[in-house]
Amino acid sequence: MAQEVSNGNHNSSAKPPPTPSPLRFSKFFQSNMRILVTGGAGFIGSHLVDKLMENEKNEVIVVDNYFTGSKDNLKKWIGHPRFELIRHDVTEPLLIEVDQIYHLACPASPIFYKYNPVKTIKTNVIGTLNMLGLAKRVGARKKATWGNVNPIGVRSCYDEGKRVAETLMFDYHRQHGIEIRIARIFNTYGPRMNIDDGRVVSNFIAQAIRGEPLTVQAPGTQTRSFCYVSDMVNGLIRLMEGENTGPINIGNPGEFTMLELAENVKELINPNVEIVMVENTPDDPRQRKPDITKAKELLGWEPKIKLRDGLPLMEEDFRLRLGVPGKN
Ligand code: UDP
Repeated sequence: MAQEVSNGNHNSSAKPPPTPSPLRFSKFFQSNMRILVTGGAGFIGSHLVDKLMENEKNEVIVVDNYFTGSKDNLKKWIGHPRFELIRHDVTEPLLIEVDQIYHLACPASPIFYKYNPVKTIKTNVIGTLNMLGLAKRVGARKKATWGNVNPIGVRSCYDEGKRVAETLMFDYHRQHGIEIRIARIFNTYGPRMNIDDGRVVSNFIAQAIRGEPLTVQAPGTQTRSFCYVSDMVNGLIRLMEGENTGPINIGNPGEFTMLELAENVKELINPNVEIVMVENTPDDPRQRKPDITKAKELLGWEPKIKLRDGLPLMEEDFRLRLGVPGKN
């Protein structure tokens, strides 16, 4: 719902959002929360949609251009009376009346965002501006996401795009009184990850299932912290529903080297595969581990699923999609 801003000194001359139809608040109106999810056909987005749809009072509208997302991820909702799917590119303006916006649209895999860096930064900057413009016009609460930093590197279209997006969020919040929530999403894994998009967990699982060597990029001692997607979605919803603007880190602080990850995947999925060392890209961050103190204290949220429990949950989905039946 459009609500009063809890902090920030915004410009009081900002125009108030239009009043929603009185029907929205009537006793027998079917839905009392209309939620827009940009990038809702993507990996995290579609899991978020599943969770939001569990609540009968929610109506969910997904906007996606299918650059990295897929309708397949949403097939169980297509035709559902509380669900709408719109093919739309967030770099183009959009006007629809909604109460909340989860702005998740952006390629997150280095392979995809490096493939079209201009589109990536446009999605972050123009896409975020469009969604903030929409939030301003309809009075919605908006949540966006972030992604360390060199302004001219090949990862910059993503990293700097996320930084500008955060600046835009806070400027709209202060100047126009828009309610905002900012999540900094750390590495996330789970079913429906794109199989061939080059992320490490999806690569290793697909390789293990296909019986191919697990390709650890040198030196293999670099670390990442992996959050299972259901934990991520719960964290995002907690943030949206709470009173803190963020930015707040949402991720799993359990830190693993890429060699450790490969060893875990090998042991859990296919003990017969080899682990090989391959070349890395020069811009690869050496360590990543979220400090989730704020999420714990302010949102009462912390991840529950350990890596060794989450990996097998992903295996079944990957086996189905790869057409390689299970061990038993
Ligand atoms: N990586 C790897 N093998 C692969 C793909 C990635 O060892 O087949 C490494 C990569 O060098 C990086 C880490 O895994 O250190 C995470 O890479 P990913 O692209 O999944 O995510 P990001 O770099 O965005 O955290």
